[in-house]
Order: sequence, then C-alpha cells, then structure tokens
Amino acid sequence: MIAVLKHGTTPQQVNHLVNWLKQMNLDVHLSEGTQVTVLGLIGDTSRVDMDLLKSLEIVETVKRVSEPFKQANRKFHPLDSVIACGDVPIGGGHFAMIAGPCSVESEEQIIEVAQAVKASGANILRGGAFKPRTSPYAFQGMKGEGIRLLLKAKEATKMPIVTEIMNISTLDLFADVDVIQVGARNMQNFDLLKELGKTNKPILLKRGLANTLQELLMSAEYIMSEGNENVILCERGIRTFETATRNTLDLSAVSVLHNLSHLPVVVDPSHATGKASLVAPMAYAAAAANADGIMIEVHNNPSCALCDGPQSLTPAQFDDLNRRVRKVREAIL
Ligand code: PEP
Ligand code: MN
Repeated sequence: MIAVLKHGTTPQQVNHLVNWLKQMNLDVHLSEGTQVTVLGLIGDTSRVDMDLLKSLEIVETVKRVSEPFKQANRKFHPLDSVIACGDVPIGGGHFAMIAGPCSVESEEQIIEVAQAVKASGANILRGGAFKPRTSPYAFQGMKGEGIRLLLKAKEATKMPIVTEIMNISTLDLFADVDVIQVGARNMQNFDLLKELGKTNKPILLKRGLANTLQELLMSAEYIMSEGNENVILCERGIRTFETATRNTLDLSAVSVLHNLSHLPVVVDPSHATGKASLVAPMAYAAAAANADGIMIEVHNNPSCALCDGPQSLTPAQFDDLNRRVRKVREAIL
C-alpha cells in the first residue's frame, strides 16, 4: 500500500503518522521528494482502514498495490481449489451441475424433481427450506421440515444437497447438509459468515444484489479467515437499470474471479434472468466462460411453484439444457 502525503507536511506530522502505522506491525518505507513524501507500507495491510488513512489531513491519496484478500487470493495459492461437496468435487476441472426447486414444497415434489434431475445428469440437488422473501406474506419455506425432506431426497438419489441458511441459530439443522448456501441478501452478514467459518462445511457464497467482486471476495475471506477454506463463489446477477431481466448476469465475473482467486465459481442463470426462456442460453454462456458449475431451478410443475415459478424449468427442459451444457464444455476444453 502506498500513501502520498500532501505538500507542506511537517517532519513531526510524518513521524506521527509513521509511528501510528508501525503500531500496526507494518514496515514503513519513507521516500521524500522535493514536492511530495511517499510512504510505502510493507506487511499485512489487510488490517489498515484505507478510508481512515485517506481522511487524514496530511494524506493526499492512498493506493493498494495488492488486494486486501489473502486466503482467497490466487497469488498465495496458484492452483485451483477443489472443494468436496459430499462425494462430488467441484473446481480444478471438476464440474458441478446443481439442480432442484427454488423451495422444497412436499415430499413428493422434492423426490420427484430430485430423481428427474439426477436422471438427466445433475450431480448436486438444491432446494430451499429457509426462504429469504421480499414480502413477509410470501411463502417462507418449510424450514426444518424442508431440510428433513431434502435429506429424504438425498437418501433416495444419493446426491449431495445444498440449501440456504439465513440465521446461525438454525445451524444444528444443517448437520447432514453437504453444502450450506449463503444467499445474496446475506452476503455481507458478517456475523453469519464468521460463524460458518468455524464449521468445515462447504459454503456456496452468492454475490449480493449490489456488490462488487472485491466485496464478494472479502466475504469469502471472512469465512476463510476463521479456518474454513471450503468456499464456492456464485455469480447470480446484480441489480442494474435494466428491467428486461430480473437481474443482470455478469458473466465476466467468472473470468475476473478465476484470475483473482483459486476458489471455484458457479453461475446461477435462474436468479440472474428470472425468466425460464433465458435460463438455457445463459447456462450455455456460463459453460463457455468456463464456470466450475451451474445452478438451475427445476420444478415438476412451474406454474404452481410456491416460489420462483417463472424462472423454473421443467425436468424435460433441464434434460435438454444439461445435454447442451456438456457439449459446450467439450467444445471449449
Ligand atoms: C436461491 O438460490 O434460492 C436464492 C434465494 O438465491 P439468491 O440469494 O441468489 O437470490
Ligand atoms: Mn429461487
């Protein structure tokens, strides 16, 4: 990190600042020119509050020359991470096809969808039990009972399961869940992230509705800094001025994240587009962008779904999508 000081800063002021920075266990390299003084901060600058430093009266500008995320950073971990989701690896060339309904609605529904998507080639089952809904009057999910039914579907199909946690107080219910999802709305629920960092469960971390990729990586860092390195990133669309789609799918996120981080990157075209007709083309595009996995909402009767019916595919549509995604992957590899 580099801090440029304002012209006219006195030696006492520089000393004061240097001492303060040294207290943070940083080495400070001082370079005094005729016009400006530049401080080079060496060491773990992830703990330096850049905005605070910038706000000091004698500071002109502050620039990071390395990213504030360390454990998620590819520089310190050049090889792709491979995360074991139950017996399904993801990352480093291992591709995950995650499919299932937005919400678990009944035993028949989840088992029927699970068997159908497995037959079509899905290798991880999704299903929401705790649902973050915009309206408090909308279906909130089957909660603990939903997890119990997901476990039945896991038993029936032998597929690992992923489901969303909204509050750490429910963690005990996730004991047999293979992957815990942190949804877009909780991407910056730092207390939740820290607690999940104390577990050893793989965490599927979805990008927030209005968050940058750096913020997504900093949220991954929250989990990893507590000891849990099993983080999978998920691009699910961000909010923009465009209203033709539910969100705007940022596909360049896949390459940006692959460049910056060793963590696997999954794309969710269902929440990104909000429209069933757009899900397949964006899934092909995600596969072409070399995503490590794709997550698709599938319902046995989308028009009657309790949540996200308009973006849900039928099992037959999913079957077609999966076949073509495999072809795209073969074409680019
Ligand atoms: C979901 O996957 O069911 C979900 C609610 O997604 P997001 O958090 O991306 O909106
Ligand atoms: Mn959904």
